[in-house]
Amino acid sequence: MNPLFTLEKTDGRARAATLSTPHGSIQTPIFMPVGTQGSVKSLDPNDLHGLGAQIILGNTYHLYLRPGDEMIARRGGLHRFMRWDKPILTDSGGFQVFSLSALRKITDEGVEFASHIDGSKHMFTPEKVISIQKNLGSDIMMVLDECVPDGADRAYTQKSLKTTTAWAKRCREAYSHGETGNQLMFGIVQGGFFKDLRTQSAAEIMSIPFEGYALGGLSVGESKTEMLDMLEHTTPLLPADRPRYLMGVGAPMDLLNGIKLGVDMFDCVLPTRNARNGTLFTSLGKVNIKRAEYKEDDGPLDPQCSCYTCRNFSRAYLRHLYVAKEILSYRLNTIHNLHFLLDLVRGARQAIFENRFEAYYQQWKGIYPV
Ligand SMILES: [Zn+2]
Repeated sequence: MNPLFTLEKTDGRARAATLSTPHGSIQTPIFMPVGTQGSVKSLDPNDLHGLGAQIILGNTYHLYLRPGDEMIARRGGLHRFMRWDKPILTDSGGFQVFSLSALRKITDEGVEFASHIDGSKHMFTPEKVISIQKNLGSDIMMVLDECVPDGADRAYTQKSLKTTTAWAKRCREAYSHGETGNQLMFGIVQGGFFKDLRTQSAAEIMSIPFEGYALGGLSVGESKTEMLDMLEHTTPLLPADRPRYLMGVGAPMDLLNGIKLGVDMFDCVLPTRNARNGTLFTSLGKVNIKRAEYKEDDGPLDPQCSCYTCRNFSRAYLRHLYVAKEILSYRLNTIHNLHFLLDLVRGARQAIFENRFEAYYQQWKGIYPV
């Protein structure tokens, strides 16, 4: 029995559960909007409450570089700094180091990198990223791992796995649940696209007592089929009594595929980034609001959506805002896309309770074939 995680219902492999964190409980499955630099772009906490967001994500790499984790700690942590009183998950910064910064050098000790902002040199060690996340005061912190690039060969992946496991142990040693802040820590399973290495990584990471387990290194450029295959292989290896988090995945069917295979938590910049690019998810499929066909369309973006944007504004207006590059375009589009995904996942949870997840899944697959 895990006091932090209560499995309430399963339907096939899909699960509905509750996860307790220092800033309240989260009902899973859940999608976590990304607030990279202490803000979900174009929204404020009031908007997020209105959308029913239960937890958001903050990026350690960005917040460490600017404004600095110590600066945030002096203001009582990230929750107080950004006026968000619900749970926050912070990543370890590893993914951004590998994807954004230049001059990376990986050693057993950690990873050296140059800031993408001013080129200054920095070093992330397992101990350092935990210290940053303690300063930020997130509810859930993530261990430092090496995200193996798509296409990495077996020898590279194997070597990287050793580093990831050693770093996970050092992260756990640097902080125990129950210390100041009562923060949770999740381990991350890597292993690239080699099933036996995924199995080995899962066993090694699970031998370290974390409050949850994440699947990393997926959705890094591989095909959907490859991702699903790896997900299907790895998810059953994870303990049933701990939350499972699929990192960096956020297209509608990615979420439903993950839920179907027993994943509880997701995050991705996709819905917010797409919103700013005018690509919107609706109950009728994807809409590119910039298209000329919407120029005089007075109907709502999605007739079945109850979000603020769809209740109040027409497609013609949303298209105009987008074409004119008005700031409001970002906000209204982001409200809709996040509402859509949060609602999709809430619907999945409901379907699990009512033993009709498969039907729910098939209904959406008809609208979003991939
Ligand atoms: Zn809407």
